[in-house]
Amino acid sequence: MRVFKFGGASVKDAAGIKNVYSVLQTAGYEDVLLVVSAMGKTTNALELVIKNYFDKSPELQSSVQEIKKYHNEILLDLFEDEKNEVFAAVNAQFAELEYFLAHNKSPNYNFVYDQIVSYGELISTTVLSHFMNFMGIKTQWLDVRNFVKTDSNYRDAEVDWELTQQNISKNVKRKILNITQGFLGSDENNFTTTLGREGSDYTAAIFAYCLNAESVTIWKDVPGVMNADPRYFENASLLNQISYREAIELAFYGATVIHPKTLQPLQKKEIPLYVKSFINPLLPGTSVSKGATLEPYMPCFIVKRNQLLLSLSSIDFSFIMEEHISEIFGLFHEYKLKVNLIQNSAISFSVCIEDKFDNFKDVNAILSKKFKVDFTEHVTLYTIRHFDEKAAHTVEENKTVILKQVSTETMQIITQES
Ligand code: ADP
Ligand code: ASP
Ligand code: MG
Repeated sequence: MRVFKFGGASVKDAAGIKNVYSVLQTAGYEDVLLVVSAMGKTTNALELVIKNYFDKSPELQSSVQEIKKYHNEILLDLFEDEKNEVFAAVNAQFAELEYFLAHNKSPNYNFVYDQIVSYGELISTTVLSHFMNFMGIKTQWLDVRNFVKTDSNYRDAEVDWELTQQNISKNVKRKILNITQGFLGSDENNFTTTLGREGSDYTAAIFAYCLNAESVTIWKDVPGVMNADPRYFENASLLNQISYREAIELAFYGATVIHPKTLQPLQKKEIPLYVKSFINPLLPGTSVSKGATLEPYMPCFIVKRNQLLLSLSSIDFSFIMEEHISEIFGLFHEYKLKVNLIQNSAISFSVCIEDKFDNFKDVNAILSKKFKVDFTEHVTLYTIRHFDEKAAHTVEENKTVILKQVSTETMQIITQES
């Protein structure tokens, strides 16, 4: 069996969905399982609904209407005839969502988040599945929550591999085009959970692992994994092949083309991963497999913007030692600050952190009681894998470098944005 993953960008409008159909015509769809994300930026739009819900904002209704309108326009474009049963099916899902908003009693933000945000994927797969049937491809729509079982750590749930394996082995039919949702799972009480933002790649890997799939293909708006994000680097070029290890390193340092959790299950069973263009499905794209040498061999660049560089030194000129470091990291963990680089010297301890949840103010107040705290906001962290002098120069040119760290294969540079 092959597993294909189509992300939000590939199904962002009616033309995108029609294109999925033509990709399937080219790539084949027998014995295939499709994992699909919410359309376009629907997850962000649902996050706004959640915010409005908790803020008791008068905008709540209009934020839901906006999402309905977006989907309805796509439906009209795809099916024209409003009598097609897909309209009722999608309306029923919106009705469920509205029922939840009207009747929910749980104050648990993360729980509520997962119950609401999941409609993005439930709806996109409903639309896609109906469209494939409409075009003459028979499909089986699977509710992923009956397959991927997780703990109840809402928004970042951990997969229960044993239960998930059992469900998938028993209940996924072969020889038919299966369509299911990325990103979602369910806990022991069958409440919806999610695997973390951008988690649909990971869902594809979970199914591939449990099905002993022949391969996974993630279809992207780029030709494959490139040596840099083409949005930021004009001359980014395609990597024809890379190893799992290289892909893990790139994802770890922040190359957003593959979700970091995706690689490990595939590596364990040596299931090849292909990253291919949904615009040109005949092009070979990137192949990720065991021990493959980076081909062509070249420096790879990863950029993380809007980082914060924090330097701590002790007030009494003593060294920052193990017990301090463990306390500092405990705080980062508690306040969900993500550490992307660490540098320790005799008198100061520096970390580059990402403050997604706007918690640094609180952490700063706590740290300032014990340490001398210096920080610079809005810095950029560049990582260069397989760096050379020219690559470092490309990054440093016309910028103020405020920290640099080098290991055998990787150079990291923090620059100040001007
Ligand atoms: P999806 O629709 O599957 O969620 P994403 O938008 O998350 O797709 O991922 C594709 C995007 O990843 C590309 O448009 C590109 O801008 C970005 N990207 C970041 N790093 C790389 C890289 N090294 N190679 C290719 N694309 C990259
Ligand atoms: N729709 C989810 C998100 O945008 C999951 C995914 O697309 O991978 O985060
Ligand atoms: Mg994505």
